[in-house]
Amino acid sequence: MTASIGRVVVLLGAPGAGKGTQAQILSEKLGLAHVATGDLFRAAVRDETSLGVTAKGYMDRGELVPDAVTIEMLLERLAKPDAEKGILLDGFPRNTAQAEVLDKALADKGGRVDVAPYIEVPEADLVARLGGRWICRAAGHPYHEQTKPSITPGICDVDGSELYQRTDDQPATVQARLRQQLGALDLVVDFYRTKGVLKAVDGRRGIDLVTGDLLAALAPANG
Ligand SMILES: [Zn+2]
Repeated sequence: MTASIGRVVVLLGAPGAGKGTQAQILSEKLGLAHVATGDLFRAAVRDETSLGVTAKGYMDRGELVPDAVTIEMLLERLAKPDAEKGILLDGFPRNTAQAEVLDKALADKGGRVDVAPYIEVPEADLVARLGGRWICRAAGHPYHEQTKPSITPGICDVDGSELYQRTDDQPATVQARLRQQLGALDLVVDFYRTKGVLKAVDGRRGIDLVTGDLLAALAPANG
């Protein structure tokens, strides 16, 4: 059976942009299967599909699963009943090489990426979101500069101990890690912009407003 491929939506956004949250909301509202590649690997390995066995071999050897194998898994996922209306990809492609392989694989099946909504958040905001975590020395009680500040700056509300930032949560570490990821993301964004399917939305606002813009970007009349 070569049934026609449903809609393929590639949701793009940096870590901290709210992509996972929006992916869940959008897939529910639009009846698209939410496909995060990590889940895809886990399901294929669990079900011991031939691709799952292949992928597990790479993972067991500590190697990256080749893009071609990941793409085959995606195509298998596309053929499942719950993906009849289409899929929403979350976390793939991560780089332009993967984007090109995906494009070609879909074209072979008579499909294409319909739309690539991009949740755009400036780097400084991402660093603030990802890097504002503090914990207390006594018990590790968590705080966040923006979303959950302590009553007295630098002091735990619960036990009065000093708050500190783990190396992983310090702005310099967060920024360095983010820079690497943003470099690849920018190229993927350019790739889809060139293809004419990119729809950027302003991700600095509340979840509901961002969802509204994403739904508008995904409306069929717009696609
Ligand atoms: Zn504490």
